[in-house]
Parts: sequence; structure tokens; C-alpha cells
Amino acid sequence: MEKQAFERPIIQKLNAGLPSKYGLARKLEPISHIDGVAISSIIKQYGSPVFIFSENTIRRTYKDAYRAFSSRYPKVQFAWSYKTNYLNAICQIFHQEGAWAEVVSGFEYDKAIANGIPSELIIFNGPDKSLEDLRKAIINGSLIHIDHFDELYDIIKLSKEMSEKPRVAIRVNMDVGIYPKWDRFGFNYENGEAWDALNRIMASKKLELVGLHTHIGTYIMSTEAYKIAASKLAKLAVDLEKKYGLAIQYIDIGGGFASKNTLRGSYYPGTDTAPSFDDFAEAITSALLSSDIKPQNLPLLILETGRALIDEAGYLAGTVLANKRLSDGRRATIIDAGVNVLFTAFWYEHDIRPVEPISEQSEDTTIYGPLCMNIDVVRYNVMFPLLKKGDHYVIRRVGAYNNTQWLQFINMRPNIVLIDKSGNLHLIRKKETLDTINSMEVIPEHLKENYYHNMATK
Ligand SMILES: *Cc1c(COP(=O)(O)O)cnc(C)c1O
Repeated sequence: MEKQAFERPIIQKLNAGLPSKYGLARKLEPISHIDGVAISSIIKQYGSPVFIFSENTIRRTYKDAYRAFSSRYPKVQFAWSYKTNYLNAICQIFHQEGAWAEVVSGFEYDKAIANGIPSELIIFNGPDKSLEDLRKAIINGSLIHIDHFDELYDIIKLSKEMSEKPRVAIRVNMDVGIYPKWDRFGFNYENGEAWDALNRIMASKKLELVGLHTHIGTYIMSTEAYKIAASKLAKLAVDLEKKYGLAIQYIDIGGGFASKNTLRGSYYPGTDTAPSFDDFAEAITSALLSSDIKPQNLPLLILETGRALIDEAGYLAGTVLANKRLSDGRRATIIDAGVNVLFTAFWYEHDIRPVEPISEQSEDTTIYGPLCMNIDVVRYNVMFPLLKKGDHYVIRRVGAYNNTQWLQFINMRPNIVLIDKSGNLHLIRKKETLDTINSMEVIPEHLKENYYHNMATK
């Protein structure tokens, strides 16, 4: 017998389906229906790709969040973060559930007004408020959350010219143990800037200081960070009470709760790592209740939760365009939705599933969108079954930020439908057409002459 040739051992990188404590990723089960409606029939009716929202899931998630806080604290109010998803139908569901509006631009402010929300129930955040925006918000009695000193001075100046007394809060940034710190918005707590701003507001006598606000970041997985944030705002409230005898009307803890999406490169799936609303509520309410704020002065607790209230309710369904092999032999599947409509693919490992029953075999696959751009990767590595051209896929948990950050690029942005509580479908945003785009363009007179037309007639 011939001696076997020695072969050098090699270490091969396992790119997909990394084992966690539960072992290797299991087979991806198809998702064929959403709230009892067949995804393939939605695609047939509304085209591919298509965004789908579940009204049931939105309302259930909202009620779950509200219960978590209101069962632990006497006065709780949610304000819907418009920039997370400002489709009017989605906003209306949150408003029907009792949420106020939280906006960060004049455009969002006008959108909230047009949605019929009373102007005193609009929280106006963000660093970009024009004088015109501020004047409007003051006349309307909206809640203005001041971001910086220039804005504070603008408001003080306006308050001297106007009969209405601006209702203001300050946004406070602080060290909550999460780095890098979010210190570009609002006034800093640790260096005394926040206290300085509060003193200037009180000294002006022209502003009504109604609240204290913070928004510590987004996709935060630490409940401890919220506990620290709530304690620091409570400390400011106590100091205001001591120095001015002012009982602040509300403390607004902002948004930022992690949704159940999985961040790129995480070891555990987001479904295992995201704290529940109960966990967040426990941390925040216990910090407020155990602070030195007098029981009779307990402020309203406002939450501006965005992502965690809407991510779960959104789906993106579509069609496989092709399969190919990359030069290293890996499989590539090309689908008809790219990162221009699924912005969150840049930081999430989105849960993408087949819609129809599939083979048992899975393979390490890269999923590409249809754009002619190298960055158009929907999932870098996923153990994915072979879907053929024309098969359907569905991507879960896409409800947050995609329909506000998406770009019209190469193709039209698709239809968005809502499945109501009885399983009826409603178109809530129409697919763009060539006319949509052309209606915004203007051709200068001298470019209207058609060169090819003239050539033909010569
Ligand atoms: C974006 C934003 C929110 C919502 O944040 P999520 O991470 O989506 O919960 C709330 N408040 C402010 C001020 C924001 O800028």
C-alpha cells in the first residue's frame, strides 16, 4: 500500500450560521402569511417588492409598551417619533392609541398638524428649528425642546415680541455609561451647561419651563443607561424645586429602546438580547420613584419610543431575480429590493425568509439587491435555501426608519400596504411612477428642442 500524501490542515472561516450556545443556526422556516393574508397574493395585487404593515402588531406592541410603564408609574404618555415612520396611516394608528407627536423638523411639525393632532400635544425636538418654525410653535402652544443656546436666545427674543408665553423644555445630554457619548444634542449635564440653561430660562421670566428631556441614543440595550438618565433628570427637577419652587410638569426620557432586530456581527440574535418594555420600564420608573422628587410633584413620564414600537410590524416582500456563483464559489442570490429601500440593511442582519415551501438544503449565501452598486448587499452571510428566479422572499422587522430614509434610485419606490385588524388590505402609499419624478423636474426652454427629432426631419 502506498503511503498517503500529507495534506496540510487548513482552517476555514465559517461565514454564516455561526454557532451560538444553542448550536448552529437551524433551517429557515418559510413565512407564507402575515395576519392570515398570503404574502404571494399581496405581491400579485400590489407588485414586487412591496412593504407590508400589520395594524394588529402595531396596536399590540403599543399596548404592551403602555402597560409596562403605566402599571409601574401613575402618569405616562407616549409621543410618536415621526422620523421613525411618518406614513400618515401609521401615525394615525399611534394617535388613535393615544400617542402625542414628536417631531424634529418644520416639515414633520406640519405633517403632525395635518394629521389632526392638537398642537399642544406636539413635542418639537431637534437642532433645526427656523425662526418661522419657532414662531408657529409658540403661537400654537406646542412643547419646544431647546437644543442649544442660540435657539434659547431666539426664543427669548421672540417671547418679547409675542403675546403667547413659549412652553419650553431643554434637551439634556449626559454620561450614561454608553460610549461614544451622544453629546451633540442638547445641554450637557456633567459640565453644568444644562443647569446654566435652566437658570437662563427662569431668569428670562418670559418662558414657561414645563419639562426636562433627554434622548440618550438609539438601539440601546442597556436598561442601566436609562436608569442613570432618569436619575439625572430627576436631580435637575429636584434642584429646580429647591431653587425656584417650580414643580416640573414632565420628564421626557426620549426613545432609543432596542428592537428585536439583530445587529450585524452580533453573537446572539436580537430576539434574545433586546430588553423587554417591562425591563426598560422597571429601570426608568424605579429611578423616578426613588428620586427626591416630592410624591405630590411627580412629573408626567413621557416616552418617545420609535424603533421598538414599529420595527416588528413592518415587512418587505419581493421576488428573487437570479442566482449566481461568486468567483470564490459562494452562492449569490439577487433580489428585487436593495439598500436604497432597505436602509437598515447597513446595520442589521435582517431576518429574510422564503415565502414558499423550500428544499432542506441550505448554503452560505450572500443576498444582493438589484442596484448597480457594490454596496447593495442585503445580507452578507446567511445560511439560505436555494430560491429560484421568481420565488418570493420576505424580510422581517423593517418598520423603523426605512420608509423615512429610503432613496429613490434607479427605480421607483414601491407600494406600501396595511393589513387591518380584519385582514383587509389598504394601500397607504402609492408606488412612484415616472410622472412622480418628472412632475418635480423643470426643463429650461433652450433644452426642449429635440435633437434627434430635428435630425430625422432634415
Ligand atoms: C429619533 C428620536 C427618537 C426615536 O428614537 P428610536 O431610537 O427610534 O426609539 C426619539 N426622540 C428623539 C429626540 C429622536 O431624535
